[in-house]
Amino acid sequence: MSARVLVVDDIAANVKLLEARLSAEYLDVLTARSGREALDICERAECDIVLLDVMMPDMDGFEVCRHLKSNPRTHYIPVVMVTALDSPADRVRGLEAGADDFLTKPVSDVVLIARVRSLTRLKMMTDELRMRALTTREIGIQGPERDAMSDPGKGGRVLLIDDRPSSYERLAPVLGTEHDVDVEADPAEALFHAAEGNYDLLIVSLGLENFDGLRLCSQARSLERTRHVPILAIADADSNARLLRGLEIGVNDYLLRPVDKNELLARARTQIRRRRYTEQLRDNVANSIEMAITDALTGLHNRRYMESHLAALAEQAAGRGKPLALMILDIDHFKSINDTYGHDAGDEVLRDFAVRVRKSIRGIDLACRYGGEEFVVVMPETDLRVAGLVAERLRRAIAGESFAIEKGAKRIDVTISVGISVLDRGGEAVSVLMKRADQALYRAKRDGRNRVVADAA
Ligand code: GH3
Ligand code: MG
Ligand code: MG
Repeated sequence: MSARVLVVDDIAANVKLLEARLSAEYLDVLTARSGREALDICERAECDIVLLDVMMPDMDGFEVCRHLKSNPRTHYIPVVMVTALDSPADRVRGLEAGADDFLTKPVSDVVLIARVRSLTRLKMMTDELRMRALTTREIGIQGPERDAMSDPGKGGRVLLIDDRPSSYERLAPVLGTEHDVDVEADPAEALFHAAEGNYDLLIVSLGLENFDGLRLCSQARSLERTRHVPILAIADADSNARLLRGLEIGVNDYLLRPVDKNELLARARTQIRRRRYTEQLRDNVANSIEMAITDALTGLHNRRYMESHLAALAEQAAGRGKPLALMILDIDHFKSINDTYGHDAGDEVLRDFAVRVRKSIRGIDLACRYGGEEFVVVMPETDLRVAGLVAERLRRAIAGESFAIEKGAKRIDVTISVGISVLDRGGEAVSVLMKRADQALYRAKRDGRNRVVADAA
């Protein structure tokens, strides 16, 4: 999908010029002639990036940007200010309004396109995360928007990679006024340092003495631990080509030497704020996935997860010609525990029960709460004999040690009955496997409980 770029300028000729250049790069272009119109378009989520003129009647670019960045429906859309103003103070003003970048007219084509491409790439990635996080919000979990919009972007963990003392001795104290800064002067150590330090931002000097700073950026992008950490590059004024390469390989933002202190701080804050937002989105998504497949009371997998995963395990077993064992465990007379000691005591038993199950099985075994006080354990590469041994060990782990209830005030005896079955010929449906284990469990109950019965078939 090509990115949709919104060009905002009150002067028709400027709009036309940018539109032509962007269209030539196969980007979809939307236009707005006023701040108000731009806000409406963004609010309808119709664009992936905004190129914003600063000087406009009614509402100027700074104000438009502030509006966009303080609205939960639009705050994540990248904004690039395009302006004739070019003092560091103007740039800082734009960045403080929340702009992601600041380009000076006349804008060079290559810089413009590189910037648009790198920012929209990032946005599309965030869109994916936002979409999934939205689902979480629908089920009542607070989204990270509010935190993100009020985050001043300070107090980050920053790694400055620079081997010129004259440079880092000036930059580190500046960054130190707002962040926790480490300096790495040895480029050979930098990647390792970056991966170990859990940083919110890497600042990489591209003018390293004996090392290619861009190679470092590219390595950081391909390493799992640093893949999502933003990179701010610092380059010499005449290194345009290298900067463009940098943006292509995933550098998030750059500054030219001589570095303006306030601009450095403003750009660092922007990156750190965005980093925190995407990390929260990622956590949110991970949590919701976790919630969807986990039983809240016991932390074991839930029935839905087991059912979808069991088929895959059975297929794998059949493919490799290995057996697959399954056991169903059911707590004996559990209803009477609830009736005698209360539902909370029953919950305590279920939780401790799950802990004991986990301790008795291997990492590759799949344990889940199938319903109420009924549990299923699936054991790959396990035959009926071994499954019987595991089940017996588990039965003893339950019956052999009483369970604490009422927060340790009382202890009660609990037993389980277990039915096991094994899939040792390919082609059998998992429902049949379940059914055979269930029939074995029924016999265990009928024969007096607190015992293991293997399916005879
Ligand atoms: P049996 O030995 O035949 O298995 O008898 P039982 O009492 O264990 O079996 P039954 O199916 O009659 O009762 C299961 C009880 O488990 C009924 C239900 O109220 C209780 N239960 C189900 N889920 C929970 C839960 O999450 N917490 C608690 N405390 N009780 C639960
Ligand atoms: Mg104007
Ligand atoms: Mg029971």
